[in-house]
Amino acid sequence: MSYTNFKIETDADGIALVTWDMPDKSMNVFTEEVMKELDAIIDQTTADPAVKGVVITSGKSSFSGGADLSMIKSMFTFQAEERKKDPDNAARKLFDLVGRMTGLFRKLETSGKPWVSAINGTCMGGAFEMSLACHGRVASNAKSVKIALPEVKVGIFPGAGGTQRVPRLTNTQDALQMMTTGSSLTPARAKAMGLVHEVVDPDKLIEAAKAMIKNGLKPVQPWDEKGFKLPGGGIWTPASAQLWPAASGILRRETYGNYPGAIAILKCVYEGLQVPFDTALKIEQRYFTEILQTTEAFSMIRSLFVSMQELGKGARRPAGVPKTELKKVGVVGAGFMGASIAYVTAAGGIPVTLIDRDMEAAEKGKTHSEGLVKDAIGKGRLTKEEGEALLSRITPSADYGDLRDAGLVIEAVFEDRQVKKDVIEKVEAVIAEDAIFASNTSTLPITGLARNSKRPDRFIGIHFFSPVEKMMLTEVILGKETGDRALAAALDYVAAIRKTPIVVNDTRGFYVNRCVFRYIHEAYDMLIEGVPPAMIENAAKMAGMPVGPLSLNDEVAIDLSQKILKAAVADLGDKAVDLRHMALIDKMVDELDRRGRKNGKGFYEYPAKPARKYLWPGLKELYPQKDAGEIEVGVLKQRLLVTIALEAARTIEEGIVTDPREADVGSILGFGFAPYTGGTLSYIDGMGAKAFVELCEKLAADHGDHFRPTPLLKEMAEKGETFYGRFDPYGAGQKAA
Ligand code: NAD
Repeated sequence: MSYTNFKIETDADGIALVTWDMPDKSMNVFTEEVMKELDAIIDQTTADPAVKGVVITSGKSSFSGGADLSMIKSMFTFQAEERKKDPDNAARKLFDLVGRMTGLFRKLETSGKPWVSAINGTCMGGAFEMSLACHGRVASNAKSVKIALPEVKVGIFPGAGGTQRVPRLTNTQDALQMMTTGSSLTPARAKAMGLVHEVVDPDKLIEAAKAMIKNGLKPVQPWDEKGFKLPGGGIWTPASAQLWPAASGILRRETYGNYPGAIAILKCVYEGLQVPFDTALKIEQRYFTEILQTTEAFSMIRSLFVSMQELGKGARRPAGVPKTELKKVGVVGAGFMGASIAYVTAAGGIPVTLIDRDMEAAEKGKTHSEGLVKDAIGKGRLTKEEGEALLSRITPSADYGDLRDAGLVIEAVFEDRQVKKDVIEKVEAVIAEDAIFASNTSTLPITGLARNSKRPDRFIGIHFFSPVEKMMLTEVILGKETGDRALAAALDYVAAIRKTPIVVNDTRGFYVNRCVFRYIHEAYDMLIEGVPPAMIENAAKMAGMPVGPLSLNDEVAIDLSQKILKAAVADLGDKAVDLRHMALIDKMVDELDRRGRKNGKGFYEYPAKPARKYLWPGLKELYPQKDAGEIEVGVLKQRLLVTIALEAARTIEEGIVTDPREADVGSILGFGFAPYTGGTLSYIDGMGAKAFVELCEKLAADHGDHFRPTPLLKEMAEKGETFYGRFDPYGAGQKAA
């Protein structure tokens, strides 16, 4: 029998080597067709007396990424349609659908023939769950091999037996940690945990897997053996009595109960370990069905899985513009940002000329990359040769003439219009006619800067976030005259350096900083009202934000906030800012010299390491403090999220952001907007425009007009619309990748 996605070769010892290699895909994933074919392969190998055992591996450099996006997405569509057709039975049908993968893997492990998974590359999610159903697991020790059950990161959990097999192979604490964090394991760690049997050199992988079968691997899983004992003794032991209260406590501390998928992992393991294996799988199936009906899972999968991939693959790239092959990129300004931009560009394989005012400054910029490379080699993320090759791609220079053959030049010089004008002119004097000029400005509108350019259609904003090496987002900003070629080139560049782009129209603060400053300004309001600073920070974390607003302001620098407020007053007048905010910030910066982390004094104090930062006690003296008992933490949480979401809605209404996927992904990658919501607009869609408008009205009555819902939101509330419905990203002119 032949298959589309698998190849089978049976050797003289009767071992069938099943190679998973999907045509036209760079990575294997579970699709309907793959499941059907795997089912048939189990039947075929089980029925064939000549087959003594099966080794399953991948024909690609990775093993598999797990379930296919469209398959998970289709479960949501299925559920929505079924609910309309047959509400009473909708959940039941979803339950059956969810159980298919579980059933398939159970069939594999009870087929009576020994199966070994030969993990040749990264093995994620459903693919590792399949491997866990195999009787033997051998992994290659290649550096690229990562093993993980990362489902929790997109709001679900390992629902194809993962929550039951992992804690039957390793101790409960490690099992819970692996699944609730979704973190990756090296093959060595997986072996130490008992999740793989052997780790071998890549060229010995198949041989080792076959040897397990030849050496008499039993086609029975430990949990199907009589007298099976759980590692660590199961639930009713003194060790468990210590573990479980702590496990719930830790999960609460890390997630504040915001992630139903993570909580479900604890429930599956706790309940599942007390019953026979098949019943345990049913328990998992029930929780999985429940989780698939949550708004959190729906929104997280959409933003963090589907949209992120689509944007990464160039969903917003103008059609018909040929791919830009960048043979060289120029970076002007080798300071804090420029040095890092040079590093990520070189890491993306593109040669860089790094220019500053003099050679010493340019070389200092390259030193930054040398430090990063050294660190990466030390951590085993780069080999010595890779590190050297990366560094050889960065050429420091003080001569603009060296930019002659650059296809793209990014400026990251001082945030000063005159300095930038000077740089634009110098660069344009040497670069080729069709080369693109990009500015990394964080506050100056691109259209204004482009007035200094002789070719504004080839002028664009590429806004990086600090630390550039870690932040996955880049904001691409279109000036009024930016053309399609510049946009395509910017997106091709962002793809080459493996970051996720969002494309926004020009405005003060662009998208991300507009939202971020709303968040910070709400904290100023709270401080002024007398909310204890610690409550502000804690409420933000409870709402799901990774960093409190005061801490964030310290990171971006309080004097930068002051500069931005002053610039707004200068350009737009007093009404553009809240004068109470101005007074607070002037006091912090001018009177108290508290500028943030950079001078070791901000809303926080920064004692010498290893001591940790703590809120500056003097902050409480600035305003009469309210009694903490009288403050509703729930309202603080709402204020912090709603003020950001409202700003995001304004950017859509003003045409700054045009695609809801970008608002959502940008908010999560840019400033960590409560990921369980799926992002700023999914947060509104998730509760419904009507409920959101009501919440805004209530907050406006109690906390100020900046909470007033916008005309667009009111209209959407009346019509029962969502952002994804009204601004359908898959509608006219925009296509899913
Ligand atoms: P920085 O002061 O660390 O670096 C600026 C560099 O530009 C310096 O090395 C300086 O010598 C060089 N420079 C100045 N004039 C020059 C000229 N005429 N020719 C060549 N080099 C020149 O500043 P930074 O924090 O890296 O910011 C640079 C730009 O990036 C600014 O526009 C800023 O708004 C933007 N930005 C900064 C951040 C951030 O977090 N710091 C984030 C996003 C964007």
